[in-house]
Amino acid sequence: MTHNSVPQPVLPYRLNRTYFTTILLIHLLGFVAFVPWLFSWIGLLICLAGIHVFGQGITIGYHRLLTHRSFKTPKWIEHIFAILGICSMQDTPARWVTVHRLHHVYSDDVPDPHSPRVSFFWSHMGWLMFINRQAYSIASLEKFSKDLLRDPFYLRFETKPYFQFMYILAQVPVFFGLGFGLSYFFSPAMSDALQLGASVLVWGFVVRVIAVWHITWSVNSLSHMFGYQNYDTHEDSRNNWLVAILTVGEGWHNNHHEDPSAATVQHRWWEFDISYYEIRLLEMLGLASDIIPTRSTRHAPGSSAS
Ligand SMILES: [Zn+2]
Ligand SMILES: [Zn+2]
Repeated sequence: MTHNSVPQPVLPYRLNRTYFTTILLIHLLGFVAFVPWLFSWIGLLICLAGIHVFGQGITIGYHRLLTHRSFKTPKWIEHIFAILGICSMQDTPARWVTVHRLHHVYSDDVPDPHSPRVSFFWSHMGWLMFINRQAYSIASLEKFSKDLLRDPFYLRFETKPYFQFMYILAQVPVFFGLGFGLSYFFSPAMSDALQLGASVLVWGFVVRVIAVWHITWSVNSLSHMFGYQNYDTHEDSRNNWLVAILTVGEGWHNNHHEDPSAATVQHRWWEFDISYYEIRLLEMLGLASDIIPTRSTRHAPGSSAS
């Protein structure tokens, strides 16, 4: 693999204090999950369900819907997916979309914000810790995310930098209250309710955020390093089955780079794309439409799609 220097707009290095501190603090907080008192099977179950639900805020919401516009939903559904993405602490919708559209324009060339040609660590999480003057400039937001900024819902997150924290921090009472309420419903013992509240807060929020972070980040790192290629896409994107399982589809990343606007990344029958099946489920429920098929289907004789 060729070696890249870090993207020019990152130099000279300037620590992104907000991102660096957040990533560090949340990982440190994650260690309290090892305290036996904070473990509960309900907490673990809510964590696993949360990895899927909030993870889809990124995969279906931020990625396939907002970045690639590979299908359409009513605005309220789009905003629910966006809020799930915000609660995953992966930045505002417009900033995430800008970085990802930049990634598709420059895939593994030097301006790519997170190519593993710099290093594995850089592509996985290092790129988040330093300010990238191009990726996060107002000019880039306007150039790459104009469509989002036209919606006042997304614009507000850019004009009020701490607005997203309202959604993020609201998860603390919600998850604590969920555990507390579940316990209190079955037994009036206050100590049990406090314990389950704390357990669901730690597992359902903190551990889940860390898990979804690393799952999303593995698409940028592992799926640009290890796996096979169905297509010569002139960059390093790979189809990685492990990442595909973890991300319920996104790991078929070479397929995605070949055909980024398609709502599915399943190009062979066994490259299962559960996220796409869920988009089709939304369609059956009348909540998704204009689903963009793969390029081969778009160009098939007799196809009316373009
Ligand atoms: Zn990629
Ligand atoms: Zn993409």
